[in-house]
Amino acid sequence: MINIHSMKAQCINLLITGTATCIEEHRELLTELDSKIGDADHGINMLRGFQAILAISPELSELNFGEALKKAGMTMLMKVGGASGPLYGSLLIGMSKATPQEEINLKEFVVMLEKGVDDVKKRGKSDVGEKTMLDVLVPVSLQLKEDANNITDKEQLIKNIIQQAEKGLEATRLMQATKGRASFLGERSIGHLDPGAMSICLLIKTICNIINSNKECT
Ligand code: ADP
Ligand code: MG
Repeated sequence: MINIHSMKAQCINLLITGTATCIEEHRELLTELDSKIGDADHGINMLRGFQAILAISPELSELNFGEALKKAGMTMLMKVGGASGPLYGSLLIGMSKATPQEEINLKEFVVMLEKGVDDVKKRGKSDVGEKTMLDVLVPVSLQLKEDANNITDKEQLIKNIIQQAEKGLEATRLMQATKGRASFLGERSIGHLDPGAMSICLLIKTICNIINSNKECT
């Protein structure tokens, strides 16, 4: 018999270790991007947050998904100085508010993501087109909402998500930042990728790969 509880615990662990490794591997890239249009700390901010989440992973895997998301979000909020901590915190805590108690189906996940993205917008007083993480999050959320009604093939679903994430990231290059530190640069922010859009794009791709290749997360 399949033990749902241990599947869920294993999936939470896979997601935590996978995302923490992703940030560790890309910390220099994130800091390098932030050095161009910010204060060169996005890599270290993200690493601090994800290491703090990794440190409490045994505790998180005992919780249901909603509680785990909430606690991970609180950790980002408390441990990360800089704009990205409260914004990632809002994303995770927002998602937790819409998480069902038991298993999560795709349509329910769409609602969770929408709530998380909405809370980022509220916290950041920001929206798409301002050269932030929202330029990846919003198109991914819209794509998933559309696909949840039309597409049953998991591989295609994941391909579409990754395509939107990469497109959203690339679009930040030509934008002028109007929120966050990068906005201080005015027109000089044009021509560089946004570091927060890069971190969320990398994380989305990592999460897609984990879900695609581990039966514990299906
Ligand atoms: P800080 O800007 O305080 O140094 P980080 O460097 O860790 O914090 O994070 C910067 C990233 O946070 C940006 O690249 C951008 O994607 C995101 N960001 C900053 N301000 C906002 C905002 N108001 N709304 C949405 N995202 C934002
Ligand atoms: Mg910074």
